[in-house]
Amino acid sequence: MYYVYDVDMTLVESDCAMTPEMADAFRKAMAGKSYFFCSGSALPKMKEQIPADIIENAAGLLPVMGGELWQGDKLAYRRKFVWPEGLREDLEEILANSTYPERTGDHIQDRKTMICFSTVGKAADMPARKRYEAWESEHNERVGFAETLAAKYPALHFSIGGKTSVDISEHGNDKSQALSALREYYGPEPVTFFGDRMYQGGNDYPLAEALKAEDNGNVVVAVQNPEDTLQRLLDMAMAQAS
Ligand SMILES: [Mg+2]
Repeated sequence: MYYVYDVDMTLVESDCAMTPEMADAFRKAMAGKSYFFCSGSALPKMKEQIPADIIENAAGLLPVMGGELWQGDKLAYRRKFVWPEGLREDLEEILANSTYPERTGDHIQDRKTMICFSTVGKAADMPARKRYEAWESEHNERVGFAETLAAKYPALHFSIGGKTSVDISEHGNDKSQALSALREYYGPEPVTFFGDRMYQGGNDYPLAEALKAEDNGNVVVAVQNPEDTLQRLLDMAMAQAS
């Protein structure tokens, strides 16, 4: 059995580090088992959130929605975003024409597997972000240009990510990629997947559905929050010990 864990709100509170209690339960429950982490964040963030020894003992790491597979410090696989012709020019035009006046820099961020676009800029500090959020709550510019771009680039997915940006990726660039990577690099063993957003539209949903579709003993565990996962890990640790 392979174990795959979502990170935010499954093992940790959003953007937070794992608590010592969770880490202790995790080590005991997963001793001798093959486990993986799959999160929307990039690798450095994942490493900030999870203790180093737990990262080192993982069979693999699947950051950026499983768009990358890391085995130790080695990048085994990375899905690369291919820029369609005209997209960069269109983003620059939207940036030039946005009626929001403040520009902080880092507006078109190429994250290799996806693009993150922001008119205020990813370099915005917290006060600048808040100013944009307040403006955007009345203007909704992101919905407008995301819809225009989606109509022009049907192979791409435009999602209103966070409070200041639009995430641009290729369709299928979701957590179901993690399963393709597992099957290609590890093998056909059943997978148990823990996540907090298994419902339709949630970021764990595509992987949950892909696992169910295999019909080979995969288990999908929808948790409520980290406390719920902690209880399940404590139960597994207890079963391990007996
Ligand atoms: Mg989550």
